[in-house]
Amino acid sequence: SVQHTSGVGVPRYVRVNTLKTTVEDVIDYLKRAGYSYQGTATCLEDLCHLSGKMFVGDLHLRELLVFSAKMDFHDHYLYKAGHIILQDKASCLPAYLLDPPSGGHVIDACAAPGNKTSHLAAIMKNKGKLFAFDLDAKRLSTMSILLLRAGVTCHQLANEDFLKVDPLSPKYKEVKHILLDPSCSGSGMVCLATAGSQEPQGQDSERLQALSAFQLRCLNHALQFPALERLVYSTCSVFSQENEEVVSACLQQNPGFRLVHLLPQWPERGNAPLAQCLRASTTKTLTHGFFVAILERQSTASEGIH
Ligand code: SAM
Repeated sequence: SVQHTSGVGVPRYVRVNTLKTTVEDVIDYLKRAGYSYQGTATCLEDLCHLSGKMFVGDLHLRELLVFSAKMDFHDHYLYKAGHIILQDKASCLPAYLLDPPSGGHVIDACAAPGNKTSHLAAIMKNKGKLFAFDLDAKRLSTMSILLLRAGVTCHQLANEDFLKVDPLSPKYKEVKHILLDPSCSGSGMVCLATAGSQEPQGQDSERLQALSAFQLRCLNHALQFPALERLVYSTCSVFSQENEEVVSACLQQNPGFRLVHLLPQWPERGNAPLAQCLRASTTKTLTHGFFVAILERQSTASEGIH
């Protein structure tokens, strides 16, 4: 698993689980255990020069602490107690950017093993309803353990094919936010040989086509939920077939939705013309390769006014 190998050139990111503790308490705990806190990073450079027990606060995400790539927290008390989650910075972007309100109804469509679900629950302060689906029963059972350890209680797990979930069911009539992180080629994971290049190398093109067709079906399906206002789509793929091309095709088929311009200060953008979206990579953002887009429903009320 990539969680155990932070990857060459990628620092170790630790997300503080605010359902169990606070950033300040984790920093204090670590300082008392001999770690050396260097303050909040002000530029990406600050994340490159961490060694030994040095750590900093991330410059974009307040709940992220950053350590040297060699640091391993899998046996650490804070990890075992669910106070920290070992999650790459790029994979923290979807829940952070979706930013569902506390008390809201939210779907995590392809949820296992649940790091993003636990992040959503933390943002929702465990209030509201978090419907999480996954096809894979084994991954879902791992997920139950992870959510239990993280203190998540606002979720309902279902071993279901998201494509078969009925958007018109009364159960989901208040769902305004969806996180869609479907199966992808995983080509952004830096432990894979192809990471970095946006051209499929040795990737079976039929497999890529099947994946992007599945991703588009999931995206189109998600947009059928009648109360949906905002959806985040993410992959850990570097291929535009699974990223910009899926989002462009979806927007063409769903003219009632548009892209949200994300984090203007983020250094790496979606391939033209989708500069509203974010990309992430080892070289430009010191993370695994990743893609994030947010679609929002165009409000009919404001149309024609602005
Ligand atoms: N969001 C997860 C996280 O952050 O921990 C990672 C999700 S992983 C990229 C994709 C997941 O989609 C896999 O666990 C896979 O079993 C699940 N999946 C694939 N097809 C699905 C479907 N039709 N319905 C629901 N889940 C599906």
